Amino acid sequence: MAFEKIQMKTPLVEMDGDEMTRIIWQMIKDILLTPYIDLNTEYYDLGLENRDKTGDQVTVDSALATKKYGVAVKCATITPNAARMTEYNLHEMWKSPNGTIRAILDGTVFRAPILVKGITPYIPTWKKPITIARHAYGDVYKNTEALVEKGSKAEILITKPDGTQEKHLIHDYTDSAGVVQGMHNLDGSIESFARACFNFALDTKQDLWFATKDTISKKYDHRFKDIFQEVFDKDYTRKFAEAGIEYFYTLIDDAVARVVRSEGGYIWACKNYDGDVMSDMVATAFGSLAMMTSVLVAPDGTCEYEAAHGTVQRHYYKHLKGEPTSTNSVATLFAWTGALRKRGELDGNSRLADFADKLEKAALDTIEDGVMTGDLAAMSTLPNIQKVGTEEFLKAIQVRLEKAL
Ligand code: NAP
Ligand code: MG
Repeated sequence: MAFEKIQMKTPLVEMDGDEMTRIIWQMIKDILLTPYIDLNTEYYDLGLENRDKTGDQVTVDSALATKKYGVAVKCATITPNAARMTEYNLHEMWKSPNGTIRAILDGTVFRAPILVKGITPYIPTWKKPITIARHAYGDVYKNTEALVEKGSKAEILITKPDGTQEKHLIHDYTDSAGVVQGMHNLDGSIESFARACFNFALDTKQDLWFATKDTISKKYDHRFKDIFQEVFDKDYTRKFAEAGIEYFYTLIDDAVARVVRSEGGYIWACKNYDGDVMSDMVATAFGSLAMMTSVLVAPDGTCEYEAAHGTVQRHYYKHLKGEPTSTNSVATLFAWTGALRKRGELDGNSRLADFADKLEKAALDTIEDGVMTGDLAAMSTLPNIQKVGTEEFLKAIQVRLEKAL
């Protein structure tokens, strides 16, 4: 019997991208999506050429469409640097599309590894994914700093709305020259971050951990701790109890020790710098950047799904020369399934959500059957490994998907 194609009520925002991931994008659609779904997407071409042609308006438009519809899927995109200016003959060094989209959606990025048999985390106790949520505003990333001459004095000066001033001595540099740094954060941004984390925990039914150094930073870090607790007490205590999940606060050094000893399966919310450092540690320890997904969640629940890796430029140049490639499409495929599942849940479209589950399972089964791309073949501990090319891998997934449908 022929498969009756799945219909979609509401459009999904589709953000196309660059280089090898753009090639993979089309292959995923052709091989694993359009034969089974009447794909209803609102398409935005965020490829660098079109961003340049539209004066980057297309990036803004895609973010606004995401606000409107609630769910987007994004392909990796080039963030231009000097070399790209020449390569693409650009009018301007356009900003990172992810930065632009994040600013419009006011979102938090959650990064989670895809676990598969044969790829063992470096930490043997880790059995389930650890999702890192990084606060992407302020602190040292928007700091002001200076070198200080010996004999100087550094102070914090706050001028209040009524003109009165408040002064705090940072240090008296009587005996030595040194350095000084000023940084800030905003209650509103911290609260948005907290809400995004609590909502994502509810969505994925995982505990939420948050950690700062509030014992040392009694005002700055303590403010983060207090805002998280206030938001939790006000709006999430009951929802968490109903979902059977917990909110857990501890000191950052204690959190690090617990994470290493844990079996995973929770969300770890981090301040900006901690998240920068810890997300690389966690990604590396789980084995592969090509198996890392990323989702941007806005405080109102709007989601944009993508792979954590870039456009895999080196593989693209091989592809352009007509050489065979073996690029891992799993994280990009999971961006699609994440977005389709979310769209299905929001629209009460269970066929669509089920399809996403089955497609993910088919991809994992393929790898666990020993069929995988070169990056995983080099790491897998499975006995019979068959290294396949970019397109062959997607076709191997298709064979398993068809059996499950
Ligand atoms: P990358 O695309 O993540 O690739 C770095 C290396 O990691 C690759 O050369 C490859 O190693 C390996 N790799 C990453 N993803 C892989 C996959 N799916 N399958 C197999 N191997 C994979 O980072 P990049 O080369 O530094 O950056 C390229 C472009 O991506 C840049 O223009 C950057 O601006 C952009 N970028 C975009 C995003 C985003 O849109 N979210 C994020 C990061 C970077 P081997 O070469 O050893 O095989
Ligand atoms: Mg980092």
